Amino acid sequence: MAKQSLDTIRVFALGGLGELGKNMYVVETEEEILIIDAGWMFPEDDMLGVDVVIPDISYLVQNKEKVRGIIITHGHEDHIGALAYILRKIHAPVYGTKLTIGLVEDHLKEKGLRKKADLRQIHGESRITVGQFPVHFFRVTHSIPDSVGISIETPQGLIVHTGDFKFDQSPVDGRYTDIDKLTRIGKRGVLCLLSDSTNAEIPGTSPSETTTGSGIAEMFQEAHGRIIVTTFASNVHRIQQVINAAESEQRKIAVVGHSISKVMEISQKLGYLHCPDDIFVDPSEVENMDPERTAVLCTGSQGEPMSALTQMAKGSHHELAVEKGDTVVIAANPKAGNEKSVSRLIDFLYQLGAEVIYGRDNVHASGHGYQEELMLMLNLLRPAHFIPVHGEFRMQQAHGELAEAAGVSPDNTFLLDKGEVVEFTNKKAKRSGKVPSGNVLIDGLGVGDVGNIVLRDRRLLSEDGILVVVVTLNKKSTGIVSGPDIISRGFVYVRESEELMEEANTKVKTTLEKALSENVKEWSTLKSNIRDVLSRFLYEKTKRRPMILPIIMEV
Ligand SMILES: [Zn+2]
Ligand SMILES: [Zn+2]
Repeated sequence: MAKQSLDTIRVFALGGLGELGKNMYVVETEEEILIIDAGWMFPEDDMLGVDVVIPDISYLVQNKEKVRGIIITHGHEDHIGALAYILRKIHAPVYGTKLTIGLVEDHLKEKGLRKKADLRQIHGESRITVGQFPVHFFRVTHSIPDSVGISIETPQGLIVHTGDFKFDQSPVDGRYTDIDKLTRIGKRGVLCLLSDSTNAEIPGTSPSETTTGSGIAEMFQEAHGRIIVTTFASNVHRIQQVINAAESEQRKIAVVGHSISKVMEISQKLGYLHCPDDIFVDPSEVENMDPERTAVLCTGSQGEPMSALTQMAKGSHHELAVEKGDTVVIAANPKAGNEKSVSRLIDFLYQLGAEVIYGRDNVHASGHGYQEELMLMLNLLRPAHFIPVHGEFRMQQAHGELAEAAGVSPDNTFLLDKGEVVEFTNKKAKRSGKVPSGNVLIDGLGVGDVGNIVLRDRRLLSEDGILVVVVTLNKKSTGIVSGPDIISRGFVYVRESEELMEEANTKVKTTLEKALSENVKEWSTLKSNIRDVLSRFLYEKTKRRPMILPIIMEV
């Protein structure tokens, strides 16, 4: 019996379930932990001022001596973004394909961690051993080159993680999802499949990335003035097709935006992007060039306020501005939550007199397979158990239904939340509790120091502003020496609310004097008295609840 408990395998996610982003999956035995992906996510609207969100890895930190390796499926930020934070706490080798490692290297370099990290390059045909686990890979097509899925050998059968994938029948780089290998894996017996659920609600088959090539080429043939193309910085395939179109229409390209320049440099150096030598020009030269011979490739497809395209549209970019007669191609669909900022951007571009091409399938194709492709994956692998991953709950659920149609018993499909564990013993699976999981918010250099209270304060500040009340008391705290002075920001326009502020001032003064005369000396009590009286008064007068910050000084 002891042997059996040794062979118990636990599978869970610390991120990537119930959300799109911060993917992180864990396979654990008694002695060892293997991690798949370490991504981050951009903050939700109510996480004010937060830069990025990473998974809570306290379980891994507690068990860090068990961690044998981190395998990365591909170079998207929702799969590599948290690595720097994790490698500060956990020492383990990181495995990835050439382009993935190239992007990881760059990411770690920015965080000053490159030298410490143990990065190991693999490819679609590699066989490695991570701890006790023999691991092999299979190539998949996705919106970034060099993506792989992972197959982990365990005594109970294979655990397969697809990574992000589609079955592109005409991939730009000619590297297909390895159907042959998937068939062989399926024949060996898959204990559990974890598969990408992003597009599980969309029927049919996703269009090939090459269809966007002909769409983009057409735009290049038809446009008269300058062409400005924006897409995801990491979509090397689409960038390649923009370069091809520019080359055949004899247009020079100026690349604008830090992230896209960086990805292009890395992928060109590693051989994933092929550019004619003389095709690029410096953005500063564009102004003096023939518009018919010019194209601009830039970031900003999601309408991000600080991105190159938004700044060019608002005239706040230091080198380039969108002008009447430009054709702007938005070769990417807005991600969920970005629709509003994208449509605002499009409106703005039209007002400038630009032609805008967007929202058409022939300039964008998803990197994630639709229902038929997810079914194909299920049919090739024929898993005994199924965990839909990489998606919001309704996507996981839709994927679960597809699995049922593909013959996986609903009892063997697990719709999990972050941290929920599925345990395999003797090839049988059951739910088995929960490990700690959640969001860690990163704001500037602070990791996890922004909690609910900080967020509540930021929300208050953003909604109703702040009032600072400064008052100076004498040494014995028996009388007011100066003040109270009330300073407000983001609450009311003071010059038009003199009366209100004066009245507020009097309220504070009376409250304080009364308290002092009653011999109240604790500053905390005095402060809360000030807060109470002010907040009641201001709410009565304005129906607003600004943050009130009393400051007491003593001379
Ligand atoms: Zn991806
Ligand atoms: Zn992803």
